[in-house]
Amino acid sequence: MLEPRYDPASEQEIYRLWEDAGAFAPSGEGEVRSISMPPPNVTGVLHIGHALDISMQDALVRYWRLRGRDTLWLPGTDHAGIATQAKVEEAVVKEGKDRRAMGREAFLERVYAFKESSQGTILSQLRALGALPDWQRERFTLDEGLSLAVRTAFVRLYDEGLIYRGDYLVNWCPGCRTAISDIEVEYVEREGALYHLHYPLEEGEGGIEVATTRPETMLGDTAVAVHPDDDRYRHLVGRMLRHPLTGRVIPIVADAAADPEFGTGAVKVTPAHDPADFEIGRRHGLASIRVVGEDARMTEAAGRFAGLTRDEARTQVVQALEEEGVLRRIEPIRHSVGSCERCGTLIEPLVSRQWFLRMKPLAEPAAEAARDGRLAVWPERMRKVYTDWLDNIRDWCLSRQLWWGHRIPAWHCRACGGTVVALEAPRDCPACGGPLQQDEDVLDTWFSSSLWPFSTLGWPERTADLERYYPTTALVTGYDILFFWVARMVMMGMHLTDEVPFRHVVLHGLVRDQKGRKMSKSLGNGVDPMEVIGQYGADALRFALLTGTTPGQDIRLNPERVLEGRNFANKLWNAARFVLAQSPDPAAEPAATDVDLWLLRRRDDAVAAITDALERFELGEAGRIAYEFVWGTYCDWYLELAKPRLQDPAQAPGVGRVLLDVLRDALRMVHPFQPFVTEAIWRQLPGCAGLLATDRWPDAAQGDAPAAAQDAVLRVDRFTEAVRLARNLRTELGMRPGQSAPIWVRAEDPAEARWLFDHRDLFDRLAQATLTVAEAGAQAPRGALSARLAGLEVYLPAAGLVDPAAEIQRVGEELARLREEIAAQEQRLARPHFRERAPEAVVRKEEERRAELGDRLARAERRLGALSEL
Ligand SMILES: [Zn+2]
Ligand SMILES: [Zn+2]
Repeated sequence: MLEPRYDPASEQEIYRLWEDAGAFAPSGEGEVRSISMPPPNVTGVLHIGHALDISMQDALVRYWRLRGRDTLWLPGTDHAGIATQAKVEEAVVKEGKDRRAMGREAFLERVYAFKESSQGTILSQLRALGALPDWQRERFTLDEGLSLAVRTAFVRLYDEGLIYRGDYLVNWCPGCRTAISDIEVEYVEREGALYHLHYPLEEGEGGIEVATTRPETMLGDTAVAVHPDDDRYRHLVGRMLRHPLTGRVIPIVADAAADPEFGTGAVKVTPAHDPADFEIGRRHGLASIRVVGEDARMTEAAGRFAGLTRDEARTQVVQALEEEGVLRRIEPIRHSVGSCERCGTLIEPLVSRQWFLRMKPLAEPAAEAARDGRLAVWPERMRKVYTDWLDNIRDWCLSRQLWWGHRIPAWHCRACGGTVVALEAPRDCPACGGPLQQDEDVLDTWFSSSLWPFSTLGWPERTADLERYYPTTALVTGYDILFFWVARMVMMGMHLTDEVPFRHVVLHGLVRDQKGRKMSKSLGNGVDPMEVIGQYGADALRFALLTGTTPGQDIRLNPERVLEGRNFANKLWNAARFVLAQSPDPAAEPAATDVDLWLLRRRDDAVAAITDALERFELGEAGRIAYEFVWGTYCDWYLELAKPRLQDPAQAPGVGRVLLDVLRDALRMVHPFQPFVTEAIWRQLPGCAGLLATDRWPDAAQGDAPAAAQDAVLRVDRFTEAVRLARNLRTELGMRPGQSAPIWVRAEDPAEARWLFDHRDLFDRLAQATLTVAEAGAQAPRGALSARLAGLEVYLPAAGLVDPAAEIQRVGEELARLREEIAAQEQRLARPHFRERAPEAVVRKEEERRAELGDRLARAERRLGALSEL
């Protein structure tokens, strides 16, 4: 027997049943489906974005298992270089220590200890959510196998000339003290100023005016550039200028990168601190003078400004320029500045020695795979976003000045200056026999993540798992890491394994609050998934997240949606209690009246539609169909239709059997969305051996309905429609619940009239009515509200139910009020330029309001018409 109420606190007992039974393991037989779980940070906690991501994967995986596919869902965690190191460093600093003073080894010991103590959290949270991946194959991006994969990939790419080391301008974060990649830089609009400076010619009169937003970097200027076609400056190209503060002599060069439309058309060139200038510097062989250091303070090269912060230097440089009389004017501007997406510090473009991966040769095949369909992107419109990015890709700065991560497998020789890249540490320098020292830097975390779909299956070894489960079926993740991760996996997968790493990329949106804002700590609007699970159960949260999704769109998480999810679990529970109370016999002959055939057919339709939606990764759609079937068709209609027949000893066993069969299929359909409550019910049903999680998916084609069943489906559909119309009429007339409505129906088709007459008891019960069925041509009652379907009219005579005079007055007042509201609404819509200027959503909302008022007016008018006939 089931308890009177469903208690989500029992969820973890159910989880243990699955785990003990090894329900997560692939069957090893049949068609293969596989997913690599995007690895959460090893020291992280479950946030609402993960909860969505994981729920989607778990739903797909559960569906595949029920369909008998050989399903592997491989879990794991990411070492998350910069995020984890920053956390530990913070703790170390609080103790008054410094990581550099501690030394690399001691510091890494601390990080490992922290990882050991906190890695259990995220994994137990995944279990709380109901995620059932193959725990026996769990991996970690820094484990031995994955480390070998990382070194193998690095060595191979280096040997192919795709990885190189060099002095390049990188995005330097002075906060994190490391280089970061282009996509880790966030651009924000800021108020700033454009400083116009005069650089005098070294010889003779005159000079050139240049403009800059960062005057402190002018200390590192090594040229001024003008466009080669700019007639204003053509005669000056090749002449020399005297730097107004350092006295250095710098050339005027002609370069197409100088924009004649910007400022004066002449730009100062600071190769060490600006990406465009860096390129100009390379083209003209200019010196690169680094005046800002890794700590964001001015270097020795900045002369008397050395040691100042960037802001202090700006103030003092501007003052000095003013004193020299070369500051011509200051113009306020808005411009975008780059900051570190992790810590928010302003990025300092710096020239430094880093490792890079040449991306062009990798990007072309990756874009091609999406164009020719080897890689399917859901939703389809994201495909172009993906290919556009690949078409414009820049080299990837791979090295990070951190300690926590995969150390770069390169060794430098101090004797001859040579570098060896190898899988294992070489004994000594192959060129000169001198001592070697391993490169200090580690790889960007995303480097190991980019190998995840195949490194976790054993690559570079040709393991049985790699043979069987690779390429994986789908990658499910948020669109926000399409470039960071998805594209890089495709590039690496295609280059290193000659295959796309997954056939489908399923992108979901971000979870936002009910006002559509991104959830964040600073706004305090975040939803803690563990809190929701504690309060309402994982099933409620999963259902809210899954049915709220449309591929690639952001979802809004309303508290009501979670309640809806919980109510749905309760609805299933109560339906199961009702069914069990009938002591259904799984061996009884199923009833086969029109109503039963109708239910079976609707079940088949639901199974087919859910299957189809899941095959298209439309989880939201699939969940909504399951909800409609269980709540609407099964509970609201069939259970109500079945109740009187269950009182009849002759019919009860057959009806009980249908109730039981369809309940079992309903549990199978809902299981991917609400695994816990469905499994809890399953265990109590007669004839359900084993676990639901490893049972089978309902077969959509089980009721290949004969023609008689087709008729039955149509009849019952029209019957439920007629009941709905009768209920609407009751509401329109303002009848009290419990007050019986004298419904009068006229059917054109005599067979339908007879069917309705035979089922009038059910009609009366469902519509709280006393049904009269009239033949075609019969005179309709006067003073009645009416509604119609094709070939069927439903009337509710108002006489005797309400006081006509009082009602007429009430409706009259309502009409007057509605007309006023409509006039006001039309004025609002007719405001000058409203339609052109207001946001589309606002216009649509106002129009919907107008339409709704119109409907209410029409209904009130009909009521008035009916009342005045009395
Ligand atoms: Zn930073
Ligand atoms: Zn050497």
